[in-house]
Amino acid sequence: MKTGLIWFKNDLRLHDNEALTKAIEECDELIFCYAIEKSNFKKLDLGFKKCDVNRFKFIEQSVADLQNHLEKLGAHLLIGSDSAVQLLPKLVEKYDISDIYAEEEYASEELNLIKTIQNILPEVKFHSYWGKTLYHKDDIPFSTSKIPLSSKAYRIPTGKESEPRKTFKAPTELKSVKKVKSTKFPSYKEFDFTKKEYDAARPFVEGGETKALKRLQYYTFKSELLTGYRWTRNQSQGLDYSSKFSPYLTIGCISPREIFENVKEYEKKIKKNQSTWWLVFELVWRDFFTLKGMKFGDKIFKTRGYKNKEIPFDNNQENFEKWCEGRTGIPFVDAHMRQLNETGYMSNRGRVNCESYFVHDLNIDWTWGAAYFESKLIDYDVSSNWMNWHMQAFEIYYTNPVHQSNKYKAQDFIREWIPELKDCNDIEVLIPWEFDIPDYPKPIEIFSKWERAINLIKKLKIKI
Ligand SMILES: Cc1cc2nc3c(=O)[nH]c(=O)nc-3n(C[C@H](O)[C@H](O)[C@H](O)COP(=O)(O)OP(=O)(O)OC[C@H]3O[C@@H](n4cnc5c(N)ncnc54)[C@H](O)[C@@H]3O)c2cc1C
Repeated sequence: MKTGLIWFKNDLRLHDNEALTKAIEECDELIFCYAIEKSNFKKLDLGFKKCDVNRFKFIEQSVADLQNHLEKLGAHLLIGSDSAVQLLPKLVEKYDISDIYAEEEYASEELNLIKTIQNILPEVKFHSYWGKTLYHKDDIPFSTSKIPLSSKAYRIPTGKESEPRKTFKAPTELKSVKKVKSTKFPSYKEFDFTKKEYDAARPFVEGGETKALKRLQYYTFKSELLTGYRWTRNQSQGLDYSSKFSPYLTIGCISPREIFENVKEYEKKIKKNQSTWWLVFELVWRDFFTLKGMKFGDKIFKTRGYKNKEIPFDNNQENFEKWCEGRTGIPFVDAHMRQLNETGYMSNRGRVNCESYFVHDLNIDWTWGAAYFESKLIDYDVSSNWMNWHMQAFEIYYTNPVHQSNKYKAQDFIREWIPELKDCNDIEVLIPWEFDIPDYPKPIEIFSKWERAINLIKKLKIKI
């Protein structure tokens, strides 16, 4: 009798889950588990938690949905409230487990965790399967150490020489060990969140495989929003300008291959255009950052970056706090930061502007900003977050937040997230410092490089 343990981590789904598929094929009986890592909720020296309450709630929703799916198939989910290091050895002993099945990891924290468990359980066989990217890392024409530095140099040969692998079907039955009862997700209290914080948390989208697959259907066949994605993707307001797949991809409620197959189907049945190409292109960006993260390891978390380059930062603590709280006095930045703080999500346009302002205007160490995003984002992903910040810090894509607020017509978005500006007209709301608006903070600084953009806004035609 071979008893296997499925260890869910950031692959909280039944569809396209190779570890699950293989365990079902190879074992007589299965135990299913998930462990939350308490250390991810500790306070950092910067003054905030490594992982904040919106992500906690999003994880909780996603795990609950997985548990529900497993129970419908007569199985269970055993949930650890401290660490996999505590939970897995207990389960191995109790259920006489010989084999553990899980998704393969690459970042150092996750690898260390696995190594620790392997050292505690030398007699257990570990099986890991790569599932994080659209293209399997073994199928692309580069070894990890030879991943090109530019996305184009990665993307073109990869597209020519490889194909994403086919998805694995979700199981319809599970050979679960009998008489095992699911356990509860731990309370927010165990992670030092207050009731007020927990109740106020409202992740931008709800977690879980069910919601992820529904969103995929909605964004593609149901609404056909995908057809316009190329032209809407730079907006910030609402749910529909972009896919909102990122929180689901991060925690594995959906697989990139599932999205890819859906887009290919959409191209056959509805429309193939620049938008369908672009969505896949973005998934390939995500792959590229993952692989680049693998190549450079922990260097991607360091102020000097993988280029080992010194940048003289000012690191003004007060400005850092103003940026975090959305009180810089620059509406385009503040609206996005407040949305991030309240919902754990920010559009790509917002992220680009907030990080550019942080690094190039406020001149603060980019790793502080990346750590803050890590804390707040429900779609936090090691490589996507740190590589995007790294790119901004070292490759200098300056974006002028005043110009961009006008270019992307962000008035309604700003009024939605900054109540102090909700009654401002379309000009005032973009450059409030030019008017007498009492409650909203005065800007940290108005740079002369913004002058042209400010003058353009002053000339906007507005409805009276
Ligand atoms: C400073 C900064 C930090 C970021 N941090 C993260 C992060 O922690 N996690 C994360 O998933 N994305 C991150 N991104 C990338 C991007 O902003 C988000 O993926 C995107 O806004 C998510 O919304 P969406 O799913 O609607 O995106 P869509 O525009 O619909 O894109 C579809 C998918 O493509 C991928 N994608 C799109 N743009 C990027 C990109 N620039 N880099 C990597 N993948 C991309 C995402 O998986 C996304 O879900 C960051 C970008 C910046 C500039």
